[in-house]
Amino acid sequence: MRPAGAVVDVSNVCWSPRIPPLGRQVPLLSRLEAVRECWVRTYGTAAPLTLIGDRSLQHTLPPGDRHRLHESVRSGELRLVPYADPVLLALARDRGLHVISSDRFVDQRRDHPWIAGAADRFLSWTYDTADDTAGDPAGLRLAPSGIREVPEQDKSRQEEAKELSFAYRINVRDAAHRRVLRSAWRCTTPSCIEAMSSPDRLLTWPRLGGDGAVLCPSCRRPLEDIGPRGVTRVIVVADRAGGEIIRFPISENLALVIGRGRLPYGINLDARGLPFPRARARVSRQHVKLQMSGTARMPRLTAVDLASRNGTAIKRFGMPAERRLTSGEEVVVGDKDELLLGGAVLVRQSGHRFSSGLVLPELDDQGGSVTEGTDS
Ligand SMILES: [Zn+2]
Repeated sequence: MRPAGAVVDVSNVCWSPRIPPLGRQVPLLSRLEAVRECWVRTYGTAAPLTLIGDRSLQHTLPPGDRHRLHESVRSGELRLVPYADPVLLALARDRGLHVISSDRFVDQRRDHPWIAGAADRFLSWTYDTADDTAGDPAGLRLAPSGIREVPEQDKSRQEEAKELSFAYRINVRDAAHRRVLRSAWRCTTPSCIEAMSSPDRLLTWPRLGGDGAVLCPSCRRPLEDIGPRGVTRVIVVADRAGGEIIRFPISENLALVIGRGRLPYGINLDARGLPFPRARARVSRQHVKLQMSGTARMPRLTAVDLASRNGTAIKRFGMPAERRLTSGEEVVVGDKDELLLGGAVLVRQSGHRFSSGLVLPELDDQGGSVTEGTDS
């Protein structure tokens, strides 16, 4: 199929150590040139390229390349945005374009379900070093990047890893960082909003400073380690169509209330910057209480409706209808069950499972693996 054109994931291309100079872990504009040349060689000039890059390139490119980057931006040839993935995928979707990137966009699949059915439009690159072309861009070939359907749990895991890295600077592949996730933390700064609403324990993940210091995401002061976090799951709050509003960890021995406004031990759905205001408006000030208990292998999440105005229902996995809870009724929420708040907001467990002393099972460096649903 002759492409109508392609959108280029500029940051991904510039950082690729599989484009000459091979193996070098620095971003370079010469790699973008090599890919453009390869595109023209393969498809000619009739199919145009749209260039989208992350704004961070302005700081990460070598000084010589930065000037050329600014020129390209000024001439309108290249667009820089804070986060390129959603922008370039929306363009590709709306205009039927190919995508040039080695990224398989696992964390974007929920917003872009069309990707799995459009594998032939996603191109990555190979570089042929067999002949004497090492260093010559003529050795570059574009080839399908290998897009496949992704299981729901993998999407969640990738989304979580991305959020931890983006918002909290925590790299789940780093053993020291994983130790940070396994501990519970407390902010002791008297004037901190986070400390005022939850003095015993930080309700979000901590944020890592450049020097590895463990900081409060609100006041950016060092946190106190209060010991192992214990059985932990990640809760996702979304609108009815699955558009994510917020996600947060829940650990044993600390009940959390989902509501609106600042509450002690509360997850505030009125916090600034959250999407889906119409759905959130259906949630009461104190709507539902969640609690984690059980063991690493048999965790147990329970929910109680707090006499909410618009009610809470539970949708059992595989059951056709939802059932409305009576006020004060406690229910166990299974791995794949969903709570429906005010008929508009979904609360579910993330597919990714945290447990005592274990974060991201497939990356665990201690050889321990807690597998789904087994108890042996
Ligand atoms: Zn703080």
